[in-house]
Amino acid sequence: MYATVMHGPGDVRYEQVADPKIERPTDAIIKLSATCICGSDLWPYRGLSPQDGPAHMGHEYCGVVVEVGSAVNTVKPGQFVVGSFCLSDNTCPHCNFGFQSSCMQREFMTGAQAPYARVALADGTLVATEEMPDAGMIPHFLAASDVLGTGWYAADAAQVRKGGTVVVVGDGAVGLMGVLAASQLGAERIIAMSRHAPRQQLARDFGATDIVAERGDAGVARIMELTRGVGAESVLECVGMDASMEQAMGVCRPGGTIGYVGVPHGVSFDGQQLFFKQQRMLGGPAPVRRFLPDLMQRVLKGAIQPGKVFDLVLPIAQVAEGYKAMDERRAIKTMLRVDE
Ligand SMILES: [Zn+2]
Repeated sequence: MYATVMHGPGDVRYEQVADPKIERPTDAIIKLSATCICGSDLWPYRGLSPQDGPAHMGHEYCGVVVEVGSAVNTVKPGQFVVGSFCLSDNTCPHCNFGFQSSCMQREFMTGAQAPYARVALADGTLVATEEMPDAGMIPHFLAASDVLGTGWYAADAAQVRKGGTVVVVGDGAVGLMGVLAASQLGAERIIAMSRHAPRQQLARDFGATDIVAERGDAGVARIMELTRGVGAESVLECVGMDASMEQAMGVCRPGGTIGYVGVPHGVSFDGQQLFFKQQRMLGGPAPVRRFLPDLMQRVLKGAIQPGKVFDLVLPIAQVAEGYKAMDERRAIKTMLRVDE
């Protein structure tokens, strides 16, 4: 089959690769219904994450099971499934504690920007629907695999509560999903930090009550003004840069919590800063599997439409253009059609 391979920074190709096959009894093979490009795929694309040789790209997926290994019990061929970008057994102590993204057998999904993919630890990773969803539901299910699950985790980790005040730092796809999650979790005030008109509009569509376009000290000052000098009790850091973490820490009230899901690149702060600010922090790769059954139900009921975050849809053969558009910020998030 043809699949997406990154040969180096800026060099993404749709090219011939070996078909995926069952390698272990706990594997499943799925036929992708659709796939997409993640903001984190841009780190190696921009040469900011070192890479050893060509890499099979893609870790966000939903599709139909076509084959399972002999030890797989919970999913079977013909079922529509969604899985997390972190592959987990869902039985070890960390999984049982709700941190499937630190599973003792954890692997990271790769190779999903393709018509077919192998999913390891299928029993613990995949969640099946009872019926085959309509085509119109596919983008929403696909979003649940990573971007929505990650935004949701940011809100959960930041202890968003009913009636609370939330600041979301970052207007990328994850930040926008963080806004949606905060809204679903009942936050009363959701302040989205964004300078880009189309993203501001999407943030409002997902439930933002206020938009702050300023950044740095001016951004902190504006949010302190909006919160009568108090700050927010829940802050979602969805970027992973030093400036965005500084922003998050600048607007979080004492006793408040920062949920951080942007993979840190050059982020640093000192212990004294955290000590005197009295802020709680929880982050890391999202345990999407914990939230998946609930998120899939919300999608099925039509309560949320996270697939609106895909503002560019291309046939998978044009995946290179999909990367370019996201890199140049012409697209928030690219969905890739897999119809052959
Ligand atoms: Zn586990």
